[in-house]
Amino acid sequence: MSDEANPFESLQEQIDDAAAYLDVDDDVIHRLKYPERVLETNLSVDMDDGSIERFQAFRSEFNGDRGPYKGGIRYHPGVSRDEVKALSGWMVYKCAVVDIPYGGGKGGIVVDPADYSAAELERLTRSFAEELRPFIGEDTDIPAPDVNTGQREMNWIKDTYETLENTTEPGVVTGKSIEAGGSAGRVEATGRSTMLTAREAFDYLGKEIEGASVAVQGYGNAGWIATKLIDELGADIVAVSDSSGAIHDPDGLDPVAVKEFKRETGSVSGYEGVEERSNEDLLTMDVDLLVPAALENAIDGDLAADVQADVIVEAANGPLTPDADDVLTEKDVHVFPDILANAGGVTVSYFEWVQNRQRFYWSEERVNEELEVIITDAFDNLTDAYEAFDVPNFRTAAYVVAIQRVVDAFMDNGNWP
Ligand code: GLU
Repeated sequence: MSDEANPFESLQEQIDDAAAYLDVDDDVIHRLKYPERVLETNLSVDMDDGSIERFQAFRSEFNGDRGPYKGGIRYHPGVSRDEVKALSGWMVYKCAVVDIPYGGGKGGIVVDPADYSAAELERLTRSFAEELRPFIGEDTDIPAPDVNTGQREMNWIKDTYETLENTTEPGVVTGKSIEAGGSAGRVEATGRSTMLTAREAFDYLGKEIEGASVAVQGYGNAGWIATKLIDELGADIVAVSDSSGAIHDPDGLDPVAVKEFKRETGSVSGYEGVEERSNEDLLTMDVDLLVPAALENAIDGDLAADVQADVIVEAANGPLTPDADDVLTEKDVHVFPDILANAGGVTVSYFEWVQNRQRFYWSEERVNEELEVIITDAFDNLTDAYEAFDVPNFRTAAYVVAIQRVVDAFMDNGNWP
């Protein structure tokens, strides 16, 4: 991973690149490049051994013109104020590109959860939820899972909030377990949107997904589900990786067996009968489709020069730096951006929130059908904009669509206070 690119600056550059194609005042664009507010807090948590540890935590509320702030909370040692600001901005434009009624937010705690017990993580999470209490709520700011968080953490946040507020308000957070008010299909939703985007992209470009060779960087929730669903389309998964390294089998891997191996051993490395490769090898393999599904800045300008994939579909948030985008556009590699390709997560979060508010729950079949409609419509909006605005790549097309929607809401709401 390159440590050069600041994700917040990448976000701002992406906005500028697209704004150049729109008839919008510079002042308005300038306003939409900064968060409305950022909470920074230090959580004091009791450790199992009796000591007290301090954890830095953030929540950025980027823009609320289209609805409540919405976005995940990640637990990672690399979390920083600028990273959280960038991720909250990407949420604004992600929600706008799929046209769901949310603004964007994001939170994070500087922590490697692997170093702590479940009891310590529960105290940490409840402590953060208490700090967040004045900001969050089903009509104000709605957290969700992100890197290294999931149903367990969301259930803790919901329980803390509801207990302190003396109410039931399951829609204060999404990505909960089904028993705690979650939605069918939410866990798979991010990877499902990556699969749907890949399917539509290949169709749009006149390529066959069946038999296409695929490499996936990252085998967490988004990466593994995307791999499984793309495999089910008939593609050949030739390489996958996690932080331990990559595995490569030109004859095709069985995604479910690899997942089972990772569940047992903690990593994909060591899987039988394959070649061990580095993450960089995986990112530069000669494949039809590359899916970066790990963290920001996976591919910078230098690495992009060596990328051999024909199509990239981003399951991670911000995996390509703006320099990488320039190089890949020049090389005619088609990049389908994160704000569409991983938007299934927040889209099914929206369905979960709707179900929570109505106290009426949908079948998984209904969730998947409605998700498919939203992602394919957004894909069509993006390709229409790509053609109509004559933009250099699909990322700029996505931002053209999204920025126009946010600007329209901002102008209609008025610049106040
Ligand atoms: N963390 C996910 C994302 O980056 C999901 C956000 C949500 O469901 O609110 O899109």
